[in-house]
Amino acid sequence: MPEARVERLAERLAAVPGLALTAGAPLSRLTTLRIGGPAELLAEISSEPALVRLLGEAHAAGVPFHLLGLGSNVLVPDAGLEGVIGRLTGALKRVRIRGRRVSAGAGAALGQVARRAAKAGLAGLEALAGFPSTVGGAVHMNAGSYGAEIQDVLVSARVVELDGTRRRLPTAALEPAYRSTILKRTGAIVTRALFELSPGDARALNARIDELNAKRWASLPSGVPNAGSIFKNPPGDHAGRLLEACGMKGASEGGARVSDKHANVIVNAGGATAADVLALMLRMRDAVAARFDVVLEPEIVLLGGLGRAQFARPTAPAAPGPPA
Ligand SMILES: Cc1cc2nc3c(=O)[nH]c(=O)nc-3n(C[C@H](O)[C@H](O)[C@H](O)COP(=O)(O)OP(=O)(O)OC[C@H]3O[C@@H](n4cnc5c(N)ncnc54)[C@H](O)[C@@H]3O)c2cc1C
Repeated sequence: MPEARVERLAERLAAVPGLALTAGAPLSRLTTLRIGGPAELLAEISSEPALVRLLGEAHAAGVPFHLLGLGSNVLVPDAGLEGVIGRLTGALKRVRIRGRRVSAGAGAALGQVARRAAKAGLAGLEALAGFPSTVGGAVHMNAGSYGAEIQDVLVSARVVELDGTRRRLPTAALEPAYRSTILKRTGAIVTRALFELSPGDARALNARIDELNAKRWASLPSGVPNAGSIFKNPPGDHAGRLLEACGMKGASEGGARVSDKHANVIVNAGGATAADVLALMLRMRDAVAARFDVVLEPEIVLLGGLGRAQFARPTAPAAPGPPA
């Protein structure tokens, strides 16, 4: 049952075109780990004006908003998420190709965009085609693979700020870094991304996507729920290598288990909870810290305050106080 202010928000938004609202939808179905309690209010959003209205009203009412893409890089609390959980659909999934430019709705699946671009003889997205992601999720995370990052081909992103303001941000304004952009701090929602690609041979590009996908799945668990890499790679090293050296493959907490194929991947081996995943992450991080003196940082996005205390970024030591 939604809280009163969320219920009032739902009533105000009920007739807005482009919004479909559901209270209490289970989020475990919307994450690749298959973990997570209910969304207080799930909003399927099929146009930018509908998103602007929703964000403006939620902001004014003090109701939190989270956007989910394919849920492939998130851990959702077992108790679910408060406020509005949005998903982009309809016009926000549309893709247009003009010359070498591809304009993709943020809700579109990045793999499908890459395949369409390849078919049109446009190169640049092949290395980003093989993992589950929406366009918006990949822009938010500055997703990358096999030496390529989405920032390499991104010209600009259209975003809506949490108060409903629309902006067009050139790539540099997103401050892209390793698995991070400024959007992690502002919370702005990407509605559309513009890519500039290079001419290529359609058959060769499709073959390259197939080749990279085969390579990826040889080193990742398939057919079992997971969220890809759990930790970021520390500078100059691989989290998977460090975790494997610590003997973490096969380690488990409840239903969460470190994959036998990849020591930086946690799988839901059956009935795993967010608490299980978090407990296992702490063991993994502590094992690497104890053996290598390296503190791994989560790559997975911990939603709803999960792990806030345990995974707080290390802060500079406090300046000494005045003498007593
Ligand atoms: C098997 C597997 C392999 C993977 N391999 C890779 C890999 O090689 N490289 C890599 O980078 N990642 C990889 N990942 C992680 C994941 O696929 C990427 O981070 C992906 O880009 C997340 O996209 P998503 O749409 O699922 O976002 P979600 O997981 O739903 O969300 C991730 C974050 O992005 C935000 N977000 C989503 N959409 C938007 C939007 N429109 N506007 C603003 N914020 C948004 C969410 O609020 C959340 O904070 C892998 C995951 C799996 C399961």
